[in-house]
Amino acid sequence: MSNAAIDLIIIGAGPAGMSAALEARTHGLSVVVLDEQASPGGQIYRQVLQADPRRRAVLGVDYVAGAKLAADFLQCGARYLPNAAIWQVTSQCEVHYLIEGRAEVLQGRHLLIATGAFERPMPIPGWTLPGVMTAGAGQILLKSAAMVPATPVVLAGCGPLLYLLAVQYLRAGIALEALVDTSHRSDLLRAWREIPGALRGWRDLLKGLGLLTELKRAGVQHFHGACNLRVEGTDRACALSFDSQGRSQRIRADLILLHQGVVPNTQVSWSLRLAHDWNEEQLCWVARRNQWGESSTPGIFIAGDSGAIGGARVAQLEGRLAALAIAGQQAKARPLQQALRRARAARPLLDALYRPLTPNRIPADDVTVCRCEEVSAGDIRSYVDLGCLGPNQTKAFGRCGMGPCQGRQCGLSVTEIIAERRRVSPAEVGYYRIRSPLKPITLAQLASERLSVEEPS
Ligand SMILES: Cc1cc2nc3c(=O)[nH]c(=O)nc-3n(C[C@H](O)[C@H](O)[C@H](O)COP(=O)(O)OP(=O)(O)OC[C@H]3O[C@@H](n4cnc5c(N)ncnc54)[C@H](O)[C@@H]3O)c2cc1C
Repeated sequence: MSNAAIDLIIIGAGPAGMSAALEARTHGLSVVVLDEQASPGGQIYRQVLQADPRRRAVLGVDYVAGAKLAADFLQCGARYLPNAAIWQVTSQCEVHYLIEGRAEVLQGRHLLIATGAFERPMPIPGWTLPGVMTAGAGQILLKSAAMVPATPVVLAGCGPLLYLLAVQYLRAGIALEALVDTSHRSDLLRAWREIPGALRGWRDLLKGLGLLTELKRAGVQHFHGACNLRVEGTDRACALSFDSQGRSQRIRADLILLHQGVVPNTQVSWSLRLAHDWNEEQLCWVARRNQWGESSTPGIFIAGDSGAIGGARVAQLEGRLAALAIAGQQAKARPLQQALRRARAARPLLDALYRPLTPNRIPADDVTVCRCEEVSAGDIRSYVDLGCLGPNQTKAFGRCGMGPCQGRQCGLSVTEIIAERRRVSPAEVGYYRIRSPLKPITLAQLASERLSVEEPS
């Protein structure tokens, strides 16, 4: 198999993966890029090449900027496999994937994991009711199908993506019932230490201020410092209740979109048994990497949000740096490294400002945490009282994390609930032992798996 090995296999055609492919091709490497989406762009530039002028106007200039990157990527000579869902990766850089119902495998010399982020779960009472979605899901519908809510919507939580979606909905003519913000103006005081460093990333800060100004100008009802959030309803959501600035509030709504930041998608890196650390600033797991993005297994690199949350610009620069290292062109890295420092400058301030509230991460006993297997926070605490030490053991106690999402939605909450109950750090508690298949595959597909032949690029 190794005779046909590809220089670099990239998982993910977002800003990190596309930029890495472009850089690697410049240095003559053979490159294959796989992504489960139908077109390049990742989360931020989802369907950017298909968007009509109206959708581009709604989604804004930062979105439209991705069109050039995606077009250049398609021209760069990398072999691009859309609609390819990776279900297994090995330490020997074998990538197993499903495409058009077939199972195929590619062999690489190097691997770049650029699988991006997913939204941090927000397990508040009632979050599993129909009528509650994540803000990211709302934005995916807008980007991929121009679908918008038919009824007034409440957005609740914190973080830049929440404000961005609010503004995008306003531009699309959607009525916003309220923006229920769990962050508080006083958080700025807590985050003051990060302000001088963040000034080097003033462009990002200005963008954020621009979004908040647009919301204010539109007269959106904006509650600050919201706590004790709960979705009301029996068969489906009908209202959001919360306390804000000392007063109880209740807002009627059929559609409530929750969001409290994004976290690295570490499914592939955990499945490879790479070294991970708990990041207390971003409250999530991050794979250990050197300055080029190389992981604890030589030859396997990670770039973009799947390494640590940094946003699209950081993702592009990290992708290019990893490609330079793989191509043996480290001497050319200096300008990129300087740009990366600037692009990362505002992140510590954002992390401090939009740190999700403890009760919205570590909920009360009656809140469902594992939605697939219907395991509550109280169930998990009772497992700990019986001697359960970490997330992996909760599987034996109550099938927690064993459903179709394979822990993507509950993993972080389970780690934090156990850590709190055991009074130890999340680092000591650890995470699920992620195993393939990362995506569902039938036995027939598995049995007919074949080696994908590399065409010269
Ligand atoms: C729902 C959502 C919406 C977001 N919207 C915005 C936005 O509008 N503006 C903004 O600034 N930031 C947004 N972000 C943040 C965003 O993650 C980064 O700004 C940027 O997209 C990160 O780039 P990336 O290349 O690291 O990852 P991504 O852009 O996330 O690209 C990762 C790619 O990997 C693919 N992938 C993952 N796992 C697999 C697998 N097993 N098999 C095959 N393919 C796989 C995905 O399909 C995806 O295309 C969003 C994040 C999320 C989670």
